[in-house]
Amino acid sequence: MLAPPPETATPTPAGTAGATACPLCGATGHAVVGSCPTAEVFEALGRTLGAALSPAAVAENTHASAVTLRRCLGCDLEYFVPLRAGTERFYAEIGACPAYYVAGRWEFDFVCAASGPTDSILDVGAGSGHFLERCRAHGRKARGLDPSPVAVGSARARGLDVAAGDVASFAAANPDAFDVVTAFHVVEHIERPVEFVAALARLCRPGGRVIVALPNRLSAHRPRGFIEGPLDCPPHHVSRWTAANLARLGQAAGLGCERVEAEHGPVIAREALKLATRRFLGERLGLGDGTARAVSGLLGRVLVPRALHPVYRATGILERLGGVGLSMAAVYRKPG
Ligand SMILES: [Zn+2]
Repeated sequence: MLAPPPETATPTPAGTAGATACPLCGATGHAVVGSCPTAEVFEALGRTLGAALSPAAVAENTHASAVTLRRCLGCDLEYFVPLRAGTERFYAEIGACPAYYVAGRWEFDFVCAASGPTDSILDVGAGSGHFLERCRAHGRKARGLDPSPVAVGSARARGLDVAAGDVASFAAANPDAFDVVTAFHVVEHIERPVEFVAALARLCRPGGRVIVALPNRLSAHRPRGFIEGPLDCPPHHVSRWTAANLARLGQAAGLGCERVEAEHGPVIAREALKLATRRFLGERLGLGDGTARAVSGLLGRVLVPRALHPVYRATGILERLGGVGLSMAAVYRKPG
């Protein structure tokens, strides 16, 4: 692995051949966060998934010898260049790994709590339908949409209502059709997120809600290094988001942003503090792992007791210090 180079502001002259603009705000000025040979990302992916991708999948998802992570100077979004999403073959291969689709997510219950039994819900990028199953258990009316025939087949085999197709065509055929439109962990995989959320907005009735969830790049629970989590790199993820980025995304797609909420809880906050303390003691002060663990465990119990958690929440300090879980969700409202 390459160590990330020191961050350097590299404003890119407008009109430079091959310049990639920020997919959120369109600015080209950026700082380089880090870079890694593409082949190393695929090797790390193979180790993570427990199975190597086929040579064909590697070949068609290799667009340069290295992938580079940039931070936009206009809006602070982090995005990769080359900015190229994974192909159908790539997703078919990683989707075949049993652990790939997550059965339980915080945001599934978040949406169920934020919707009523009469709301019609559409989940875009439904995968094999884990959220739809959760909706069924909560007495919610939900349909799904997914481009992958394999995922759709798997969902339908379990009695779930999932259409196969792309969001733009489905939105053109079903304008203003749903009370709530959701997309879980889709935005960070695609090249044109504003266009995607605008399609979600078309599917939503005026006055209805669009709820988008994705990983919070400021969470202390994320892998530290730029390349430690190969699923957080292309061809899997092509961008990394903060709550402010997510608020801006809805506005760019013509929606009002009501709120962005991060996964939280006393255990999550305490574990985040312990993690941050352990890294500091180990890396900065050179303490042995055993001592660092003991000190961080003690600090976690003293500083983040369950009883104080609501106070920390109310001040917003947990979000700022990364004491939140990996996921966050934005609730957008379509103008009535
Ligand atoms: Zn930007």
